[in-house]
Amino acid sequence: MGAILAAMEYDYIVVGAGSAGAVVANRLSADPRHKVLLLEAGPADHPWTRIPVGYSRLITNPAVNWLYSSEPEASTNGRRIPVPRGKLLGGSSAINGLAFVRGQAQDFDTWAQMGNPGWAYEDVLPFFKRMESYPEGDERFRGRSGPLKVTNPLPLNPLYATVIKAAGEVGIRHNPDYNGATQDGIAMSQATIASGWRMSTARCYLDPARRRPNLRIETGALAERLLLDGKRCTGVRYSVGGESREARAGRAVVVSGGSINSPQLLELSGIGQPDRLRALGIEVQHALPGVGENLREHYAPRTRWTIGQRGVTFNDRGRGLGLVHQALRWALNRDSLLSMVGAPLRAFVRSRHGLDAPDLLLGWVPMFTEAGPRGPRIARQSGVSCYAHPMRPESKGTIHIVSPDPKRPPEIRYNFLSAPVDGELTVRAVRIARAIMTAPAMAPLQVAEIAPGPNGNSDEEILDWVRRAAETTYHPVGTCKMGSDPMAVVDARLRVHGIEGLRVADASIMPTLTSGNTNAPSIMIGEKAADMVIRDTM
Ligand SMILES: Cc1cc2nc3c(=O)[nH]c(=O)nc-3n(C[C@H](O)[C@H](O)[C@H](O)COP(=O)(O)OP(=O)(O)OC[C@H]3O[C@@H](n4cnc5c(N)ncnc54)[C@H](O)[C@@H]3O)c2cc1C
Repeated sequence: MGAILAAMEYDYIVVGAGSAGAVVANRLSADPRHKVLLLEAGPADHPWTRIPVGYSRLITNPAVNWLYSSEPEASTNGRRIPVPRGKLLGGSSAINGLAFVRGQAQDFDTWAQMGNPGWAYEDVLPFFKRMESYPEGDERFRGRSGPLKVTNPLPLNPLYATVIKAAGEVGIRHNPDYNGATQDGIAMSQATIASGWRMSTARCYLDPARRRPNLRIETGALAERLLLDGKRCTGVRYSVGGESREARAGRAVVVSGGSINSPQLLELSGIGQPDRLRALGIEVQHALPGVGENLREHYAPRTRWTIGQRGVTFNDRGRGLGLVHQALRWALNRDSLLSMVGAPLRAFVRSRHGLDAPDLLLGWVPMFTEAGPRGPRIARQSGVSCYAHPMRPESKGTIHIVSPDPKRPPEIRYNFLSAPVDGELTVRAVRIARAIMTAPAMAPLQVAEIAPGPNGNSDEEILDWVRRAAETTYHPVGTCKMGSDPMAVVDARLRVHGIEGLRVADASIMPTLTSGNTNAPSIMIGEKAADMVIRDTM
């Protein structure tokens, strides 16, 4: 490691340019008096981030993906589960499946009830509205002029109308806006796609801010340690191409490294569980037992169905000449399967009568994929998969460093299904997927179940299949949880407990999982964090 250059001085340093961090950097640098440094470990861009289905090229691409994986455990039948995370400007918003889901009003009301004033639905709604530009829906709930473009992709496949009809036959109604008054029902996915292009936070928040003279964006810059002066955070040590650098923050450092890397950076800096840090030879700067705890994730089995009717799945329409046709259509009109959301159709449903809100999520993908040399590719066999899982799992895992080396991946332990209710609800979700896929309206498609299949009838058989086959939907949250209890890492203004001048703002601060995907709430957290930082440090 070379000598450390003289530290540069900033008002704010933001670590990580992902869903939340890019937003924080944009909002803080909107005032030309604020000097802001944004550090991003990954590169500035990658061509596959522009075309929506580029996610299939990025999900195993080490150039833009941290490619973590979890530790083997009984609930995964000893498998390691892939944990992809974006590593470039835009973070995971630049590689994700593009579905735009806020969650339920109850999610945020629960956060407030857990001791986090300012996070109830009525408090966060203005930030959800401020961030988006969505041309439809009720204006009481939806924003029209925010930086993030959200659209309803065209339902380019007759399959979706059939599944919506089948869902109606089992009592699940169509809901045109699950981000509006109520989440209930089945709907086409809203998407962070506009005119056929992916809308990441790099596109929507950093591109417009890039030329500001008071914002410096450093890519290929890995934050290795926070600089502390007693109980005050004064800056960041980071490396660029093997060279060590330091930057000082006069007002605040905002850590937005995401749910895996934010707890990692705190631990590398001596903030965390004292015994664990000492065992690794790291000097304890501040004891905070909740760092890296409370990991929540959606553990989601994919039910799989072959489709006899020709021409309705991506397998039939997106291979060989079909793919050429889709590419031409995208080039001419941008309205082809190349602008497909990861799961274009989704249903928010209740596991039983009497619940006041949905607790299960089902998502349909109109194709079978198989492993290819450059990531998943479209399989020859024509089919549909439908993932099905509880939205607010109670099982909690951990993420902890195993070395003082910042380049060494932390250890991820999910402890899936350790709360029995998660297993019960997963079985229920699989049974509801089955009920929809075998409803009378589906008959013309000639649907046949292959997973869980004929050996997946009893609850125990279904759970056994879940342990052998389930993956995640890439939504780790909660590892620097917000709250006021002894295991909380940040307070309701996202200040790290016991350390001045240091905040965390990303998916890691969520005390519980939101009901759905996590990009929209992470962006909202970035918006709200910036607002609080500005108010508190002026
Ligand atoms: C494959 C995939 C598919 C998904 N699909 C969807 C979907 O369809 N809809 C949805 O809503 N959500 C989806 N998600 C989840 C969603 O994208 C994430 O929850 C969200 O992006 C998290 O935002 P974040 O700000 O917490 O972290 P991220 O967006 O991951 O940002 C963290 C950033 O910090 C950088 N960083 C980390 N450590 C350091 C360091 N030490 N120094 C410098 N930089 C650092 C990272 O490189 C990264 O750019 C998906 C995620 C993945 C990976």
